[in-house]
Amino acid sequence: MKYLSEYRNLEATKRYINKIHEITTKNWNIMEICGGQTHGLVKNGILELLPDKVRMIHGPGCPVCVTPLNLIDKAVELLENGVIVCSFGDMIRVPGSKKSLLEAKANGGDLRVLYSPIEAVTVAKQNPEKEVVFFAVGFETTAPANALSVLHAEKEGITNYSILTSHVLVPPAMEAILDDEFNTINAFLAAGHVCAIMGTEEYYPIVDKYKIPIVVTGFEPLDLVQGIYIAVNQLESKTYKLENQYARVVKEEGNIAAKKVIQQVFEVSDREWRGIGLIPNSGYRLRKKYEQYDAEEKFNISNIKVPENANCIAGEILKGLKKPYECSQFGKTCVPANPLGAPMVSSEGACAAYYHFSNHVIDQ
Ligand code: SF4
Repeated sequence: MKYLSEYRNLEATKRYINKIHEITTKNWNIMEICGGQTHGLVKNGILELLPDKVRMIHGPGCPVCVTPLNLIDKAVELLENGVIVCSFGDMIRVPGSKKSLLEAKANGGDLRVLYSPIEAVTVAKQNPEKEVVFFAVGFETTAPANALSVLHAEKEGITNYSILTSHVLVPPAMEAILDDEFNTINAFLAAGHVCAIMGTEEYYPIVDKYKIPIVVTGFEPLDLVQGIYIAVNQLESKTYKLENQYARVVKEEGNIAAKKVIQQVFEVSDREWRGIGLIPNSGYRLRKKYEQYDAEEKFNISNIKVPENANCIAGEILKGLKKPYECSQFGKTCVPANPLGAPMVSSEGACAAYYHFSNHVIDQ
């Protein structure tokens, strides 16, 4: 199959749902890593069609959701001090400790919503008298473009451009989840787009160490049910290995050119995950050579620290310990128009998925 519509085919999807029912004999908890996969499962009603014994647990793969509160406060601080802040649209309504980027814009801040960090370099070039910062949020998928923007600024001799980095990595998060004392995960669906960049090599050690099936999976309904089928099939036959359902996109070696750009500009560092805490070696920071493009250093804002909202249980949801509807604020004080936490506002957030596409809001 090569067309997207074929991966949205109802009959083919139903066939795989039936196959999952046929082979399932035991209870299995399967975590889909990516928020895009969570939305695919909830929006297409797949959760209701699976056997009761197959429970999907929603993982931390929503970059907006895991960006710490203090990073949003730092971006707001820049905006309120005359810096042009550029961001992907997803970030602008996420609440900081006092306000979101959108609220800071309403107070006069120069916030630009862009589709690419390269556009932010152009903004810097067009506004030489101003400082321009790109809010570089994301998993491995967005790292190449953010790294390229730094290389582009360097090549053009642009000195009024920098990035506020919040890059996180999937494999260390998977290990942190598996090491959690309350972990109940039996298998993972790995995020296909992350693997399209990074390849599959870094997942083999996790498979071997934790003896757990990992299935690299895409995002369409048929992708998702195929990924679940492969995972259940391994679990029922007591095998554990890495399998690639998304082979039409993901190559074992990943995107070598993209990985080279990441390597050139970033190095692995410890990262704080919103609601989860510090995970060792779970993110990227700019290499020393590119520190002049590090907004935290440039504007001396690395010391801003703020506590998370105590009413938001996003950390437990991101670790798969609770479902969004188990949060006492869900659909009451926390709704997409007035979110208490990032998972309710992000297009990949689990709380937003359940709010928009499940009947849990009606049930309350
Ligand atoms: S429903 Fe709102 S308050 Fe509860 S975990 Fe989700 S984002 Fe946080």
